[in-house]
Amino acid sequence: PVGLLDRVTGLLSRQHKPRVVQAVAGVDLDIMPGEVVGIVGESGCGKTTLGRMLSGILPPSGGSVLYQGQAVTGLSAARRREYELAVQMIFQDPYSSLNPRMRIVDIIGEGAVVHGLTTRAGKEAYVAELMRKVGLDPAYRYRYPHQFSGGQRQRIGIARALAVKPAVIVCDEAVAALDVSIQAQVLNLFMQLQREYDLTYLFISHNLGVVSHISDRVAIMYLGRIVEIAGTDAIFSRAQHPYTRALIKELPQLRTDRRHFDPIRGELPSPLDPPTGCAFHPRCPYAMKRCEVERPLLQAINNDTRHRSACHLLEETP
Ligand code: SF4
Repeated sequence: PVGLLDRVTGLLSRQHKPRVVQAVAGVDLDIMPGEVVGIVGESGCGKTTLGRMLSGILPPSGGSVLYQGQAVTGLSAARRREYELAVQMIFQDPYSSLNPRMRIVDIIGEGAVVHGLTTRAGKEAYVAELMRKVGLDPAYRYRYPHQFSGGQRQRIGIARALAVKPAVIVCDEAVAALDVSIQAQVLNLFMQLQREYDLTYLFISHNLGVVSHISDRVAIMYLGRIVEIAGTDAIFSRAQHPYTRALIKELPQLRTDRRHFDPIRGELPSPLDPPTGCAFHPRCPYAMKRCEVERPLLQAINNDTRHRSACHLLEETP
């Protein structure tokens, strides 16, 4: 089958004068319709850059994003508009993306009117229905963003994204700023909407626990590269990469004995001066000589192309 966002390759460089930082490199990711793919990594690992590139906010300096088999950069103006509506983004801080001088009815409904998905006369009813879908009382539609809590503002952001009938939603740390109890509610809302509208999500977070709650597949990123990707169950039961295993060990719910908690040593190196070979080698307890010079490539685990990992240990063990 043709993926929705099939083959995202190569990818992006951020210009940092006088140096060039390759924020994301060698990422090769297919996302199928109706799938929820989680991207996990520490801040600065390139996952936000990847999300922005997929949603068309940042153009890739190399490689390509294919949408339904066609390179996004080569789309006609009409197809490009279609793509930009089909792929919506939800951010960590909805407040900064909600115009404080606009009423909620206009924030949610204006895009739908502009793109002909409803009429000006039909906007109120269109918005009221969306507000119900995301758990907001339509009676509040004339209020302004500052009159809502953080969780409610995130629901407004979700309603605004849904208003233009997207196929894909890129959620960038979409629940990171919320209290834990509100996080769970908003995550449940995401799951409910995914089933109802058959949405595809790219769910980006530093928190493996949050991502695993919602994702069919999980990709682990380290310094701009995917180091392991697998179905969520396989990530937890058969993780191969030392970085993935360390992330799993750090999950509070899996830490039964805090005395033996063994955090990943060291800091994430600067993308301005990434380590040679395997970028994880300065922090890896299993690093060998070859890890310092030779970058491991993603390879299928037990011939299962859905589970791939990039570590030299895979060749060392029989
Ligand atoms: Fe560790 Fe080497 Fe594997 Fe990198 S390639 S994760 S340094 S063992």
